[in-house]
Amino acid sequence: MTDYDVVVIGAGIAGGAVAWRLARTGLRVALLEKGSDVANGATRANSGILHSGIHEEPDSDVYRMCREGLKWYRNWADRLDFPLVNKATVILADSTESLDKISHLQQLHRSNLAPHLLAPAELGIRWPFLTDKIAGALEVVDSAQISPYEACRAIVENAIANGLEFITDCDINGVEKHGNTWQLQTSNGCIKSGIVVIAAGAGSNGLSKKFGLPLSEQKMLSGAYFMMNKAAKPITDAIFFGPPGPETKGVLMQNTVYGNLMLGPDSIDARKLEDDQFNWQRICNLWQECQKLIPELDRKDIIRTFTGERVCVGKGFQLENHLDSHGIVRLDGIKSPGLTAAPAIADKVLQMLGKYLDVNEKAGLIEKRLSPANAATNQPTGQIVCRCEQVFARQIHEAIRRGASNIESLRWQTRAGMGDCQGSFCRPTLIKTLQSELKKETGEICLKNKNSPMFTGDLK
Ligand SMILES: Cc1cc2nc3c(=O)[nH]c(=O)nc-3n(C[C@H](O)[C@H](O)[C@H](O)COP(=O)(O)OP(=O)(O)OC[C@H]3O[C@@H](n4cnc5c(N)ncnc54)[C@H](O)[C@@H]3O)c2cc1C
Repeated sequence: MTDYDVVVIGAGIAGGAVAWRLARTGLRVALLEKGSDVANGATRANSGILHSGIHEEPDSDVYRMCREGLKWYRNWADRLDFPLVNKATVILADSTESLDKISHLQQLHRSNLAPHLLAPAELGIRWPFLTDKIAGALEVVDSAQISPYEACRAIVENAIANGLEFITDCDINGVEKHGNTWQLQTSNGCIKSGIVVIAAGAGSNGLSKKFGLPLSEQKMLSGAYFMMNKAAKPITDAIFFGPPGPETKGVLMQNTVYGNLMLGPDSIDARKLEDDQFNWQRICNLWQECQKLIPELDRKDIIRTFTGERVCVGKGFQLENHLDSHGIVRLDGIKSPGLTAAPAIADKVLQMLGKYLDVNEKAGLIEKRLSPANAATNQPTGQIVCRCEQVFARQIHEAIRRGASNIESLRWQTRAGMGDCQGSFCRPTLIKTLQSELKKETGEICLKNKNSPMFTGDLK
């Protein structure tokens, strides 16, 4: 039986940010994650934009949370060593209707974000790769881009350094309340805690049922992306949103923090995705939509497609305080811009918990962290494992030392396998390194989480 003051369930960016704040208080805190690493839900597969707030009402909570979040991430990126690139956001318009929309946004945010309208002639000079059918655009300077997995990994690693217990591969099989204490029967043993924070994204309804909370009306929206190779044109210095639709902000075109052109997402009701024909059509539609805006795009440059799913519950984020009745805070409906807002969401959770616990920061905290790539640079030479992304063996060893136990964790921590060949060359080396470092049999090597073995065993 392990005893905690607070247990946070779900190591996405919301749970990660809450755990990071709590680890700084000296309270006994555990972060439980059903996957083998951080960010197994929406936090891994999203656009990675730290939104300026231009799409929100200026007097709304979500707007304020975006502004606060941006400040937090800029500070975190410096201290915790993950990539963040400051970029302008440019919203394109191609019709009278979309021009009206961007003019409305400009009026709305005139005094806070100072966005400015761009005429087609200026667009043509600054970004000649855009179609000449663009009727105008709105530019707002203050936004940024991150690698969301790396940000999440960085804050959780720093929280661990400050005392957080991070428990992966953790299935919660049953829960019981004894007096003021929750007792969680998990695949990693029995865990006791006075307070539970549910930050499980799409898994939050399943958990709510276990904890006796009412279910929410979750709607799952899926977004598909194209990831292009680094040679794909154009290289952009801005984050482009296509013309806004009735329900969407418009399709995105941007270079990631590593320089790959990324296109997408669309926004589709996830229930439709059972149908293969529909899925194919959806990908074709997305491509056509992007090509309408940047005619020179070439399908040969696509190295991967992927999708991410967000949970939507009503308007805004649902930050539910059930502390008096259940000893629970539930975070639900953390849709976009939930990545941007996560630090501010964590702040609100801390305010809720402050009524019951001492959430002041303790002294002597560890403030710095180095990424695996930078932590491993004390050996300037060595074997290259991934040629496409220039990843060295020492970086792979460093990631394993930090807890990477499968191929996907290595890929996301070091970028080995993220390049043009998508792992054709480096994967056998990654497998062998995992085997030898973790003393595992071939059949125990997994692609992602514990239930995804890559092999049934040796041939001979
Ligand atoms: C396509 C797309 C694009 C987006 N683009 C942006 C953007 O550019 N900018 C922005 O600000 N926001 C964006 N968002 C929104 C953002 O990604 C989410 O708001 C954010 O990632 C939600 O984080 P979370 O921690 O709440 O959930 P998640 O990231 O889903 O994390 C939940 C975690 O809980 C774990 N879990 C689930 N059930 C259990 C259980 N029973 N026990 C233990 N663990 C469990 C999961 O494995 C997962 O790791 C986008 C979302 C999508 C889908």
